[in-house]
Amino acid sequence: MGKQTSEDLRRKAEAQLAEREGLIKSLERADLESLAHELAVHQVELEIQNEELRRTREEAEEARDRYLDLFDFAPVGYFTLDEHNRIVEANLTGCQLLKTGRSSLLKQSFTKFVNPEESDRFYLYRKKVLEDGTRQTAELRMQKVDGAPFHAQVLASRVKEERLRLAVIDVTERKKTDEIKDEFLSLVSHEMRTPLTVMLGGLQTLVAQGTQLTEEERARLLEDAYLETASLADMVNNLLELSRYRAGRLKLTEEMVDVPRLLYHLVGRAEEQHPGYKFEVECDGMRRVSAARIRLETVVYNLLDNAAKYSAEGSTVRVLCDARDIEMIVSVRDEGKGIAVEDQDKLFTQFERLGQDSPVGPRGTGLGLVVCKRLVEAHGGRIWVKSEPSKGSIFSFTIPL
Ligand code: ADP
Repeated sequence: MGKQTSEDLRRKAEAQLAEREGLIKSLERADLESLAHELAVHQVELEIQNEELRRTREEAEEARDRYLDLFDFAPVGYFTLDEHNRIVEANLTGCQLLKTGRSSLLKQSFTKFVNPEESDRFYLYRKKVLEDGTRQTAELRMQKVDGAPFHAQVLASRVKEERLRLAVIDVTERKKTDEIKDEFLSLVSHEMRTPLTVMLGGLQTLVAQGTQLTEEERARLLEDAYLETASLADMVNNLLELSRYRAGRLKLTEEMVDVPRLLYHLVGRAEEQHPGYKFEVECDGMRRVSAARIRLETVVYNLLDNAAKYSAEGSTVRVLCDARDIEMIVSVRDEGKGIAVEDQDKLFTQFERLGQDSPVGPRGTGLGLVVCKRLVEAHGGRIWVKSEPSKGSIFSFTIPL
């Protein structure tokens, strides 16, 4: 039958050709010339059309490349999942997010990258998106191909019947910051409650039994309340410094600071605050550094204040500055009670106070050195301590030159 058809076709084509040839034979020369002209015009038209097609194709290819770039390098991981939850499409960011190559990712079940404890939640989420057909977000604990966990924010929408398109962002860092903030807030409230409780207790006793107390008992209660208030005030000041630093982190402008001059100025302030102590300044090498003055002042004054607070009256506190090669080192040395080696790391952690607080004055806030560390690191320096119990401590920090 097929053969029959192709023979039929051939016969028809030959008949048509014969008809055309007959037509051509019957044409006048003038007709032929005009026909040739028309053919030439058609040819040019075709060439133009061809050129346009080529250009359109090139443009389409460029657009596709641009789209692929946008898709691949978007700051979000994109995945398309088929009805069996297998990955059928993933952009480069998505591959990097899961720490694997595209070829090994395709056809894998997406569930493999969801923390097993979350697989039920993910199943329900997926079901809901498919049923409702609307875009929905979720936070999921996920894991990379090597099992490393991360927190993801997922935005899913339905594409074609059973397919899902997911946009995935790694929010681990944000989660961590949130947790640190929460922890910090609860620490601050806890830390503030202690002095407040002491103050309240003392004042309550004074109000309720004031007249029955001896002069000495009243004086003690008042003194305790005073010290607790002072410690609260210190803490609020430290917190203000921390938040001012956070808020102004980007705004602080650097200027040329004459470090020895700044040290003499701060030593003057410390002498006023701690009249029973001797303070000395020794400087070597370059004097001027580019730094945010307020940062330097806060750090040095905190160290001077601690040096006096944690050593006996009459002792000497020395401030040294020495500029070498790429950095200036500023050190504050005291002859105080020192710090046990095992405690030295803890010093720069929030609300860490060691053993006995300062023998005189208000309770420490445990925030001073935290502020110092933040400020020193903010200008690219390091801070550390060398100390020997009952011999004294040296706190040093660097300012890059
Ligand atoms: P604060 O002094 O307000 O408690 P800091 O963060 O400044 O808070 O210090 C934390 C702890 O480190 C202090 O409670 C104290 O135990 C210890 N410390 C700080 N500086 C010295 C020092 N120069 N000598 C001995 N101990 C110190």
